[in-house]
Amino acid sequence: MGEVVSLAEARAERARAAELSSRVVMHPALRWVRAGDPVWAHRRLRDGRTACGKTGPLTLADRTVARCPGCYRAAQR
Ligand SMILES: [Zn+2]
Repeated sequence: MGEVVSLAEARAERARAAELSSRVVMHPALRWVRAGDPVWAHRRLRDGRTACGKTGPLTLADRTVARCPGCYRAAQR
């Protein structure tokens, strides 16, 4: 009986994790790098562009990449 409950919990947890990971990709707090332009980490807008106006495929930036001065002004941090 205990095994059935834990399996159901595991499934629920896996579904919750999958939903979270699908949302987190668009989270505004994440920083992004453009292909061929790994120097700056940009802020991504809802329409897929960066806040400084760049287009093109974006991938998640490493934490060590410096923030783009166009996307992250001093007040925004
Ligand atoms: Zn930028």
